[in-house]
Amino acid sequence: MNTWFKKSFVLSAGLALILSGCGAKSDNAATNTPQTEPNQAQTTDSGKKLKVVTTFYPMYEFTKQVAGDHADVTALIPAGAEPHDWEPSAKDMAQVKDADVFVYNGIVEGWAEQALSSASNDQRVVVEASKGLNLMEGTAEEEGEAHAEEGHAHDHVLDPHVWLDPVLAQKEVESIEAGLVKADPANKADYEKNADAYIAKLKELDTEFKTGLKDIKRKDFITQHAAFGYLAKQYGLTQVPISGLSPEQEPTPDKLVGIIKFAKENNVKTIFFETLVDPKVAETVATEIGAKIDVLNPLEGLTDEDKQKNLDYLGVMKNNMEALKKALNE
Ligand SMILES: [Zn+2]
Repeated sequence: MNTWFKKSFVLSAGLALILSGCGAKSDNAATNTPQTEPNQAQTTDSGKKLKVVTTFYPMYEFTKQVAGDHADVTALIPAGAEPHDWEPSAKDMAQVKDADVFVYNGIVEGWAEQALSSASNDQRVVVEASKGLNLMEGTAEEEGEAHAEEGHAHDHVLDPHVWLDPVLAQKEVESIEAGLVKADPANKADYEKNADAYIAKLKELDTEFKTGLKDIKRKDFITQHAAFGYLAKQYGLTQVPISGLSPEQEPTPDKLVGIIKFAKENNVKTIFFETLVDPKVAETVATEIGAKIDVLNPLEGLTDEDKQKNLDYLGVMKNNMEALKKALNE
């Protein structure tokens, strides 16, 4: 958006607010408490808010940031639940069916395509936020296991964790923006403005990562599951995951031995674990090598504790950056 357009937009939005907020009253009314219900003040042209259903936390957060007040955004997967093994209930399916817009990441939600076809709705706009991105194949199964080949190719599962790369996250926000504009073209200017503002914050986050991780002493970090592949690639790091692309893919004893050996040889002092997954295996590795454990949050959901601390995507990502910076400088 050019600045001329932005200015004229801000102007017209301000004007609209005054007009809708004060009716026949004087200009003063616009600065007072709104006379109308907030819900009514921000409706779409058709007179009702968009109903947007998302899957897990980053999809919810990105969508809310772009939608602003124009939509009721809900997340199907509740706080504290791990999305890799979540399945929709009948009630969730009814929400999917009713949605004006459905936003999902792709791959994580293995149930989504089936759900969308059985809860069909011709009017619904579907956004698969990772679509069109250059997805990597999972590497978890390949590490140190060349000897385990049995003439079969391993399952080539694509890595879904693009939301953990502040650069690819911007692309997901753009896809969500396009979906909202398609469903509600009357509010296109607002969606553009909101998306631009959030993308600017993601760019700042990217800069913080680049700056923070510039002069680190080591490049390898051990994580609980293989969630940080895109982030690692973006900042020139190497992720060494204990579990596979999904936290339920527990390591084989061989793999565990390999990781412990790697950690000892490289003098790793921190093993990362996640808030939504049992830290047992990470603790075992840490005890074995005399390392400590710390959180590296894959943002697959916020815990109640995260919420109490008012942590959001940007806040958690900043914590992740600090945790990585600390561990990689030990
Ligand atoms: Zn994951």
